[in-house]
Amino acid sequence: MDNIKKKIWDRIQEADMVLVGIGEEFEISPKKMKDDLKYKHFLEKMEVEKAYRWMLPYVEKLYLKEHQEERIKKAYANLEKILAGKNYYVVSECMDDCIYGTDLNNERIVTPCGGYRFVQCKDNCSKKIELPDDEILNKIYDCIQNGNEINKIDKIERPVCGKCGKDIVFNNVKSDNYAEEGYLEQWNHYMKWLQGTVNRKLCVLELGVGLQFPTVIRWPFEKIVFLNQKAYLFRIHNKLYQLTEEIKDRGCAIKENSTDFLINWFV
Ligand SMILES: [Zn+2]
Repeated sequence: MDNIKKKIWDRIQEADMVLVGIGEEFEISPKKMKDDLKYKHFLEKMEVEKAYRWMLPYVEKLYLKEHQEERIKKAYANLEKILAGKNYYVVSECMDDCIYGTDLNNERIVTPCGGYRFVQCKDNCSKKIELPDDEILNKIYDCIQNGNEINKIDKIERPVCGKCGKDIVFNNVKSDNYAEEGYLEQWNHYMKWLQGTVNRKLCVLELGVGLQFPTVIRWPFEKIVFLNQKAYLFRIHNKLYQLTEEIKDRGCAIKENSTDFLINWFV
């Protein structure tokens, strides 16, 4: 273990609580779909037939499920080993839901940007979230896998809101009327946990968090470290690793891609 990893390890071991923020460097983007031939065909079909555009988020969900990158999974697995036995909480800006398939404690994870776990009304008329319709997902998956049966796509019924008849969309910040009900309960749980960090030895790990949603992790974490004299922050990012003046005495900036950093931890 090199010096910096030893430093992080020791800080975690002696901390009462560990707060982890996960950002863009962990995100698996559905934009890579066009590199997969089967998905590419499907995307092209959707380009031509505008009536099928509603399926895109469903296709994204299927793609993400099928393409959980091994290296990202390895990074999560190592993070779990590093946090083992500690009182931790993980806030993630990722929308790929990959974190929910890891060994990290699901009750200690909050993903305020949402993802593809739930669906909602496009207009958020009822402020309710639901699980996506598996039958629709299965039918679309079948069409993607069997390109020659792509005509079956005509028979897939477009899901609509039972209350207002508008489209059903996935519950994430890409939605114009994002239903925050998808994460609020867990967010409140996280806030209570945070209250418990006051005057405790807190180790903060910020992993690959950029400036896309600075109010979710980056700025609040800086504030937490500024206010808690017993807190210490490790900010790991390929480019945006810099620390603000106020907290540089209680922080350490590491210029490296955070997933690579974790993957290489136990070698
Ligand atoms: Zn509605």
